[in-house]
Amino acid sequence: RMLKCQFILFQMIITNESQWDEMLLIKGVVVIDVYQAWCGPCKAVLNLFRKLKNEFSEDDVLHFAVAEADNILALQSFKNKCEPVFLFCVNGKIISLVKGVNAPLLSKKITELVLEERAIASGQKDHSIESASRQLAFFFPNFDTDKTEQKMEKTLALIRPCLLKERRGKKSILQRIKDDGFKIAMQKEITLTEEQIHEFYKEHVDQDYFPVLLEQMTSGPTLVLALTRENAVAHWRDLLGPKTVEEAMKENPNSLRAQYAVSNVPIGQLHGSSTPDDAQKELEFFFPQEHTLALIKPAAAAKHKDDILQKVKDAGFRISKIKEESLTREMAAQFYKDHEGKPFFEDLLSCMTEGPSVIMVLTKENAVEEWRHLMGPVDPEVAKETSPGSIRAHFAQDILSNAVHGSSTKEHAQKSIECVFGELDLD
Ligand code: ATP
Ligand code: MG
Repeated sequence: RMLKCQFILFQMIITNESQWDEMLLIKGVVVIDVYQAWCGPCKAVLNLFRKLKNEFSEDDVLHFAVAEADNILALQSFKNKCEPVFLFCVNGKIISLVKGVNAPLLSKKITELVLEERAIASGQKDHSIESASRQLAFFFPNFDTDKTEQKMEKTLALIRPCLLKERRGKKSILQRIKDDGFKIAMQKEITLTEEQIHEFYKEHVDQDYFPVLLEQMTSGPTLVLALTRENAVAHWRDLLGPKTVEEAMKENPNSLRAQYAVSNVPIGQLHGSSTPDDAQKELEFFFPQEHTLALIKPAAAAKHKDDILQKVKDAGFRISKIKEESLTREMAAQFYKDHEGKPFFEDLLSCMTEGPSVIMVLTKENAVEEWRHLMGPVDPEVAKETSPGSIRAHFAQDILSNAVHGSSTKEHAQKSIECVFGELDLD
């Protein structure tokens, strides 16, 4: 079938919707230079693109295009941006983007995608990532991923009560968030108290709209999300679109604010932090740092201490205090006060006092819950089935010597920490 679009050199030119739709039908990888009518496509990348086109000429999976932002609906959000933007479309789906002429990053992305496509075509998808990185090392022997990859960042996102109540919103917004390359690091639904709203919006308390905001925000649960990806703050704001629904509808109909507009509500239903500094403050507000008491039980302390400590650090916990010490019966009984009288209580005390334990204060947002999650279910057989990544799945011997202990509530944590380390000045 003949393509209706014209080619100049090797780039397909897209200046209207039907050409855009044609492009989406192309099999394989299309690298799209999104340009502004007034300045034209980016010339600085042409040599690089030509070189890559030659490198991968044997299989017909790599294509290039230039697309004018002004005339194409899907590109509305790139209108009037001065910085060059490159989109990567794989089998009709835009899957990522690079801003600016970052040659190493562009080469790497393109090579990765092409090798991935090749691997899929030859039916070895499972090994594709491994072989891609092997082949990447071959093509770019001096390539240092850490330097070119942008830094991971966190931002705070709120879905306010009115939109959340509609329910249609939640699932598909979460999907859009994932499609856009964000990871949801933490999430919770909470109904904020008046006090919390005064605190969170303290700069807005004197504004006319504050009473409406207050009424809105206390009317039901808000979904609070901590989102991570490179450049998360700016990306989330881009995805949200312009501030007001009217502007969003006009300027970026694809944006979340346009797509999830709730009529008759004067308060915007979606929020994102303005700067990385703001993000940190706002995240701290909703997900305050917490401490928990964690303990590596004697049997595991003897055999798997280093592996367990590694898992603790990999999961992002700070070890605020640590000591190795044999528990006395009294201490063990204090940890397990709730189990006194149960048939396994005596055995539990013996198992806890048979040698030195590693006792720690772990610090992180949501630490109590997250540590329990990382420990896994109490019974190692269950842990292996339902939480194969958990510490107990890996290192527990049996239900008594199940590798680790963790406080079950914030209050327990505080008591146990005091009992082991005395009054602490943790922050
Ligand atoms: P922990 O309190 O040690 O962090 P947990 O909160 O997951 O673990 P609990 O139900 O509080 O589990 O039990 C405390 C400890 O008692 C467990 O770590 C386990 O070693 C032991 N235990 C719990 N249930 C049983 C049981 N049915 N038989 C034997 N030992 C048990
Ligand atoms: Mg417990």
